[in-house]
Amino acid sequence: MTLEGTNTYIYGSGPCAVIDPGPDDGGHLDAIRAAAAERDGIGLVLLTHSHGDHADGAGRLGVEVVLPGDGEEHAGLRAVATPGHAPDHVCLMTADGVCFSGDLVLGTGSTFVPPDGGSLAAYMDSLRRMQAEPIELIAPGHGPWITDPEAKLAEYVEHRMMRERRLLAALDTGERSRAALLAAVWDDVPVELLPMAAMAMEAHLEKLEAEARLPFDLVE
Ligand SMILES: [Zn+2]
Repeated sequence: MTLEGTNTYIYGSGPCAVIDPGPDDGGHLDAIRAAAAERDGIGLVLLTHSHGDHADGAGRLGVEVVLPGDGEEHAGLRAVATPGHAPDHVCLMTADGVCFSGDLVLGTGSTFVPPDGGSLAAYMDSLRRMQAEPIELIAPGHGPWITDPEAKLAEYVEHRMMRERRLLAALDTGERSRAALLAAVWDDVPVELLPMAAMAMEAHLEKLEAEARLPFDLVE
């Protein structure tokens, strides 16, 4: 079920687990309770990460809420740590290859990775980690199911690598202005999304700096 863009999943039965109950919205929580009632109620709420649009409704369902650590199993779902979009992010894997991906990978559009000191490097590692998992289907936190997980994960890795290559190429020409770098590398981004792109660029710059690949004389 979807409300305000966040997907909530009901997994298993007798009782079921609720994955990412979404925002604190009465109508949405009622719909979750009704769906869960057909499966002998809710045993547990599982979160992929602590962002409000996934987690704020969790406390209202009256059961234990768990944001699992790496390798933990709850209600038949195995957590795989996938930091980047959020430091506490996990994907939840079923034994038969369904991946509840939270915001690691989205059904439409691209995942936002904020600059916070190494998050993009962590995010790239997380994508590669999931590429090694036996995934048949991705059930994302936003947008439709992804039926070609291998292609989608490769596309996400390649998209970030493309930005990095173009950023390095622009730096190689001697460009040192952030505004000019943004215009050169994120030239396909609509103007209203440029503030987001500027933050995405900061995450890229942090990664390059950590890898000692960033010139020291960047300016605004
Ligand atoms: Zn999120």
